[in-house]
Amino acid sequence: MTGADGAERLLLVYCGGTFGMRDSGRGLVAQRDLGGVLGELVRECSAQRSRDVDWELAQPPEIIDSAEAGHGTALSIADLIRERLGSADRAGSPFAGVLVVHGTDTLAHAAAQAAFALADLRTPVVYTGAMHPLGTPGGDAERNFARAFAAALAGGGPGVRLVFGSADLPAVRAVKRSSEADEAFAATRPLAEPTTSVPGLAAALAGAAGAIPPRVGMLTAVPGLPPALVEAALLAFPDGLVLECYGAGTAPLSGRDAREVLLGARDRGTPVLAITRCAHGAVELQRYAVGAALAEAGVIGGSDLTAEAAIAKLRALLRAGYTGERLALLLRLNLVGEQRPLGE
Ligand code: ASP
Repeated sequence: MTGADGAERLLLVYCGGTFGMRDSGRGLVAQRDLGGVLGELVRECSAQRSRDVDWELAQPPEIIDSAEAGHGTALSIADLIRERLGSADRAGSPFAGVLVVHGTDTLAHAAAQAAFALADLRTPVVYTGAMHPLGTPGGDAERNFARAFAAALAGGGPGVRLVFGSADLPAVRAVKRSSEADEAFAATRPLAEPTTSVPGLAAALAGAAGAIPPRVGMLTAVPGLPPALVEAALLAFPDGLVLECYGAGTAPLSGRDAREVLLGARDRGTPVLAITRCAHGAVELQRYAVGAALAEAGVIGGSDLTAEAAIAKLRALLRAGYTGERLALLLRLNLVGEQRPLGE
């Protein structure tokens, strides 16, 4: 989309992260005001293009180390984007693209959350960040910004992507793989092209903007995982729990105590979604008896969702008002490319 003078329009959302950090003397801290640096970067990137780029800056109220993100942080960034794009998005957004600069620790979480919360929008959204602050000799911040800037304006169609290093990944498949390398993000699972469109889902997602963020979290299976810890996790995350299982969806939770805890969650309406910690393959709860025990206790199979996409999907659907059987059904479907539909 172009402005009246033929310039392209970009919405730039700066959220914090190493990209804009400075040394505080006791570690790196995020800076709210980057001075004129963002404008300078936009000017440099625009100079590479044949047309001028008009840009608008949006910032969430808190500029943070993304490790401090809470239940609502990523959703509030998505809501900010929706608000700035306005209802014009469907007819033709006032912006050609959106570029979000975010910390890398929860970049995959934030981008996946936006992919679900903004699934009804038509404007391309690109998330990026950096492993080194702006101005670091040989650092990646300027480079990543330039690539993400170009990707946001490339007219690549709707959807949320994560552009980092040389990678350009679907947000719902991306994971942070390295705490050191410039190529910090990867997608080990293929994008599953959605084949179904769910009646009412777009309106429900749009209508949920601004609503209270559901308290959703994750617990990882380890040898000796006590049912009491599952119970505690369900108390801490009363709206929904992702259970990161072994292999095909197994966990040491087939005993009576665990079953009672899980059935209690089901009766309270707290969904428990099983995913696998393996980088390849999907959950298949019926393959082993210990997995079948989870299914019998109400646990829902999460196919081959990444942890980030699982948390984001559950949170977005809950915020959109889905519960019970309807929620379970949507969790089994591939909505935006996030998973192999169950049964495949
Ligand atoms: N702790 C930083 C953050 O996530 C890491 C980074 O941005 O690279 O905000």
